[in-house]
Amino acid sequence: MTLALRIASVPGDGIGVDVTAEAVKVLRSVERRFPGLRFAVEEQAAGARCYLERGCDMPRETWDACRSADAILLGACGLPDVRRTDGTEIAPQLDLRRELDLYAGVRPVYLFHEAHTPLKGIGAGEIDLVIVRESTEGLFVSRDAGVRVGGEVADAQLVVPRRGAARVAEAACQLARSRAKKRLVTCVDKANVLGSYAFFRKVFDETVAGHPDLKAARLYADAAALWLVRDPRAFDVLVMENMFGDILSDLAASLVGGMGMAPSADIGPAHAVFQPAHGSAPDIAGKGIANPIAAILSAAMMLEHLGGTRGEPRLDEAAGAVRRAVAAFLGKVPRSTPDLGGTLRCAEVGDVVCEILEAGSSS
Ligand code: ATP
Repeated sequence: MTLALRIASVPGDGIGVDVTAEAVKVLRSVERRFPGLRFAVEEQAAGARCYLERGCDMPRETWDACRSADAILLGACGLPDVRRTDGTEIAPQLDLRRELDLYAGVRPVYLFHEAHTPLKGIGAGEIDLVIVRESTEGLFVSRDAGVRVGGEVADAQLVVPRRGAARVAEAACQLARSRAKKRLVTCVDKANVLGSYAFFRKVFDETVAGHPDLKAARLYADAAALWLVRDPRAFDVLVMENMFGDILSDLAASLVGGMGMAPSADIGPAHAVFQPAHGSAPDIAGKGIANPIAAILSAAMMLEHLGGTRGEPRLDEAAGAVRRAVAAFLGKVPRSTPDLGGTLRCAEVGDVVCEILEAGSSS
């Protein structure tokens, strides 16, 4: 029986447009390789370009499409020169997280080829960790708030509700169990300095106590930064507050080839957004040289997530096939796009990944 899924595609700005085109190309390739799967991809406008053209960065029809879709595939939104009248950046991806309650920011960090890491003596597959970032609370709560006193003082509050800390810790535990690797969950915080982080750790401790099959560790964020560089092989799943997750996931991406290699998912109880962890990268936008691997791997995460929520093994199989096609491609051409030291163009990478996927030689 054919399984048809509705995907809202929001390419956004800059390289978001290029890399989303490749992710959608791969979904079409999945349809050819797995004839029982169909994706109705509806492209929607959002972001800085949309704001300039329509005076609104997230039109009502985009909200409606995102709310009613089975999943949302996002490129990147925002351009440094395009601001609202109050000076804030256009960031509908943050609005999506808040409005759709996408509390778990899942950011896998996997080394596909030793040539991609600046660390010595680490081979393919040896870096294999996931950062789970609390994506709706923490310091980002102050995005539209905070006190300003004239031109002299500005503040921002870090907010840690028990429910939010508990559900993201629970999501990290579930992930560590389903990965079946080290079964280790590390809480990253600054519990030695701020009461809000001490509370985050306390709720983490209470949550992991309910998972006796898992190992739990705790690290201060500064030490986590050090250990991620010194020996990333030691980690499995790390869970942390919003701002620490924002910073450490970029650091971790640099260990496996940079932002072009970093996929992500923002998952909530009823909705999920899948997007590369990078931004719109205006420095390379419009040149056709962005690395689409992060976007393609985000599409694979989408397939896996839908497979899990629908109990549909064909989607899990498709997700695995996409990942194996990416691995086979990067095994042969580790230096593909310019960010990885190669000369391939964004669309060429998508084409070759699709060829490998459809040839089935990767499985
Ligand atoms: P944000 O503020 O949303 O994080 P940004 O534009 O400041 O976004 P990114 O877009 O995340 O930062 O990326 C920083 C740099 O990394 C870019 O300027 C670009 O040079 C490089 N980069 C990011 N993504 C890619 C990609 N997919 N392919 C190649 N290079 C990339």
